[in-house]
Amino acid sequence: MIILKTAEEIALMRESAQLVSRTLGMLAAEIKPGVTSLQLDRKAEEFIRDHGAIPAFLGMYGFPNSLCMSRNEQVVHGIPSDQPLQEGDVISVDCGVLMNDFYGDHAYTFEVGEVALETRKLLEVTKASLYAGIDAMRRGNRVGDIGNAIQKHCEREGYGVVRELVGHGLGRKLHEDPQVPNYGKRGSGKLLQDGMVLAIEPMINMGTHRVRQLKDGWSIVTGDGKPSAHFEHDVALVDGRPVVLSTFDYIYEALGLPKNDPVFA
Ligand code: MG
Ligand code: MG
Repeated sequence: MIILKTAEEIALMRESAQLVSRTLGMLAAEIKPGVTSLQLDRKAEEFIRDHGAIPAFLGMYGFPNSLCMSRNEQVVHGIPSDQPLQEGDVISVDCGVLMNDFYGDHAYTFEVGEVALETRKLLEVTKASLYAGIDAMRRGNRVGDIGNAIQKHCEREGYGVVRELVGHGLGRKLHEDPQVPNYGKRGSGKLLQDGMVLAIEPMINMGTHRVRQLKDGWSIVTGDGKPSAHFEHDVALVDGRPVVLSTFDYIYEALGLPKNDPVFA
């Protein structure tokens, strides 16, 4: 069942999403060679609690940490470890909070030091595909239009679109209806309506779309060991158009990058 949100509820969800954004911005300045993902996880947990919220992933379905940190060939659901990050790594940081009864859940894939050109391109294309998907989240469109936009954007570069893991509705639960695949046919799936809030999150592989799960019971890795990228935003449908509740601007600020992500009119 899809739960539509009121304007007041969407305002609260923006606060939850923005706390995740600020957490990712705080981490952006810390991500460098030699740092471990476990150290970053502890910093994030402290930051979230200091802001009066609860780390949403900690203990959820039994997950042991506050962040999902997925490095290189890991797609999503990586468990923070004491292995130091290395120059040239990429690491997806997925963060969730529960605040004022509503969840925020978003993610960014960071570069560690100097990253290979082809991997940087994977990150750029994946992030652009997220915005292509968001642009398709309009009243009268359907869930399949979002996935179709993401899939087209990535497959024309020869990348693999992960099938087994999908975006989702977001609200008082971390995972609500509908599921939001990163692939699909135009005009298929549930109708998009004002008041929907979706976590849209392309998971895109440089090579095969196939994935497998590691023996730790969590980490999803690419079938061919090539890198994967993951970007996620929380998006509300308001007056027929997408309103992005989360932001990468804190990350850009920390990294000295231009803040020129699209705004949807
Ligand atoms: Mg997430
Ligand atoms: Mg999510």
